[in-house]
This record gives sequence, C-alpha cells and structure tokens, in this order.
Amino acid sequence: MITIRPIPAFSDNYIWHLQHKDEHWVVDPGDADPVMRALGRNQLTGILLTHHHFDHTGGVPALKQTYECPVYGPASIESVTHPLAEGDQFSVLGGQWEVLSVPGHTLDHIALILHADGARHLFCGDTLFAAGCGRLFEGTPEQMFRSLSRLADLPSDTLVYCAHEYTLSNLKFALTAEPGNPDIEARMASASRARAEHRPTLPSTIGIELATNPFLRTQSPAIQAQTHARADSEGDTPVEIFATLRRWKDVF
Ligand SMILES: [Zn+2]
Repeated sequence: MITIRPIPAFSDNYIWHLQHKDEHWVVDPGDADPVMRALGRNQLTGILLTHHHFDHTGGVPALKQTYECPVYGPASIESVTHPLAEGDQFSVLGGQWEVLSVPGHTLDHIALILHADGARHLFCGDTLFAAGCGRLFEGTPEQMFRSLSRLADLPSDTLVYCAHEYTLSNLKFALTAEPGNPDIEARMASASRARAEHRPTLPSTIGIELATNPFLRTQSPAIQAQTHARADSEGDTPVEIFATLRRWKDVF
C-alpha cells in the first residue's frame, strides 16, 4: 500500500511525499527543510523531478548530499542521476512508472504516472493544475495544448497531483471564462470549504478537470463565445482558443 501526502513549501507549493514500506520518495523538492522535517528519522530513498524551475529543484543538492539518494528527472537538470524521457518506464515504490514528455511550461517538462494499488497517479508538476494550467515560459501554445490533451486523454479516474495550491484563484478565472457551469460552481464551494479548513484541494482527477478546467474545455460553446469576443482573440481553432485563454489568464 502506497501513501501519498503533500508537504507544503514556500507560499503555495506542494512537495509530494510517497511512502511504500521503508521507501520514501519526494516529487519536486523546492526546499530541503520541510522534507527533512516530514521524514523525521526516515531515510529518503529517491527524488523525482518534473522540470528545472528552482521552486521544484532548490532542495535537491542538500537532500542528495544528506541521503546520498538517486535523482530521477529531465536530463537538462544537472543534479539528475537517472535521466528520464518520453516512453521511459521504471519501477520504484512497489509500482510501475511511465514518463510522458509534456513541453509548454518549460521545454524539459515531464509528467510521471504511477500505477500502484490498482490506481493511476499523475504527477504533472506545473503543466496541469486544478482548474488551470502552467504559464508558457518556454513552449508555444501548440506544444502546451498538445501536452494538456495527452493528460486529458488519461482515464478519468486518474488521480492528479499538481505542484501548487492555485485552485481557488483558478476557479475564479474558470467561472469568468465559462459563466454558469454548475460543475465549476460546485467545485468552488467544496474547494472554498477545504481551504477554510486548511486542507489541500488535491489530488484532483482527470474527470473533475475535464468538467471544470477551462484549458481542457475549448469545445465549450460558452468558452468559445468568451474568447471570440475578446479584442485579443487569437482565433477560433482549439489551439487558438487555448492561446487566448492562457493570455487572458496571464493578466486576470
Ligand atoms: Zn515551474
């Protein structure tokens, strides 16, 4: 049985801590101190990375030195000992992992899928967020749209572990981009309750994202009407609608 817990870091990052028996792994440790506190007297077995940004990798040198553990992630990151790329598979934590290349937020961004205990767990870093998606720092709208489409095609019960608690602000934008969507309104209510009680709004599922995430809903007539009406509209193809939404969210 695997357990997966969020370790809060900085103002809104989650470092995911995965445990199976005596094995402890973390995903995207931007800071070493909260990881060491969470581990207590346990040893860290390994580190998984989704992309090179500092708030996902800043804790790696200290953790690697303290625990002498391997680092799995994109080859672009200097501290990586086990480079991962599209199509790679590996086995740790009693489960099978597969790797998808998902460029857009950064060009080196990968998503990691863990198959364990009869469930599918997606660690998607800053590509797919609850009700949102990452900014386009390095890639094109075409690349990000394709990356998100690949994640959206995963089975709807896939659990989604994003690297930030951005859900409430993303849902505010989602309600503006697609007014009247009852699934977004219901999610806003449950996410507001969770945050008021200091609980994370994650994990999500692909099914919830398909129903409430505007960046996966370019087929929605309400979203199409909103993006079409904007002065900065890029056009009406799915990629252009996505590009318009992303630019709109940048200034929302
Ligand atoms: Zn990032």
